[in-house]
Amino acid sequence: MSVRVRFAPSPTGFLHVGGARTALYNYLYAKKHNGVFVLRIEDTDVERSTKESENQLIEALTWLGLDWDEGPDVKGEYGPYRQSERTHIYKQMAEQLINEGKAYYSYVYPEEMEEIKEKLAKEGKPPHYSYELLEPYNTEERKKEFEEKGLKPVVFFKMPRKPFSINDLIKGPVTFGEGAIGDFIIMRSNGLPTYNFAVVVDDITMEITHVIRGDDHLSNTLRQVALYEAFNAPMPQFAHVSMILGPDGKKLSKRHGATSVEEFRNKGYLPEALVNYLALLGWSHPDGKEIIPLKEMIETFDLNRVNSSPAIFDNEKLKWMNGVY
Ligand code: GLU
Repeated sequence: MSVRVRFAPSPTGFLHVGGARTALYNYLYAKKHNGVFVLRIEDTDVERSTKESENQLIEALTWLGLDWDEGPDVKGEYGPYRQSERTHIYKQMAEQLINEGKAYYSYVYPEEMEEIKEKLAKEGKPPHYSYELLEPYNTEERKKEFEEKGLKPVVFFKMPRKPFSINDLIKGPVTFGEGAIGDFIIMRSNGLPTYNFAVVVDDITMEITHVIRGDDHLSNTLRQVALYEAFNAPMPQFAHVSMILGPDGKKLSKRHGATSVEEFRNKGYLPEALVNYLALLGWSHPDGKEIIPLKEMIETFDLNRVNSSPAIFDNEKLKWMNGVY
């Protein structure tokens, strides 16, 4: 089976070096295996997503030379996939789960959801929703009331109460214990999918074989794996890359100085130097080489040489590398 990977940024700001490294690892993995690298803009969060940020992300990727291989045709070029243009697919896939009894509509008001949570807390139970808990609210009367008020139900996924596990290509075996979470919303009342649902529907329909992303998404993987199973879809291989830290050991942020590709570009860094530096933030060349042309990087890149512990961003080293290029 040919390799298909994706970079799936949310357009909510500039391209952070962490995101750029994720894009680069996906790109290198695709090129190494003669695979396909997909760019998907995850813009279902309408309040936080901006077109400006999407344009900045695309500009930064293009500057770095990380071109994608597929997408809707826009004037003879590949545009990126955008989740906002795929709403009909999420709706259809949610209906499939409902028809199969794996998901259900819920007409429970937000205040009632809170009440249920409070009641569970009083009983010393975890705050997990279930079909049984919500069912008493979903009466015919309530459905009529929603219709009259022009309100739409949300769609809940019936989370199977069993453990799930994956064999992460970087982290190794990861097990999510039984009953770690309850049923969760996959479609909002505004007709838009929730984050985890959109990701899985896209990764299934785009036939993604390897999900390479930051390990801040590891906790989402449980919901995603359960959804794959519900769709009887082949599970991709997961590879969760560790965070990038500042020299003080804290998550790399503005406090540490420049953090976006845009800022480094404005400071006069060369894209080749930044790509080389980012590649080595977690991965190492088999011979320990530091200055690696892109062609050689593609030939030698491998996920099993990606470190499972966090990498430290070292501005001095980047400066040195930039001087070599
Ligand atoms: N949209 C997510 C982000 O920007 C990435 C989701 C994923 O790679 O699965 O963090």
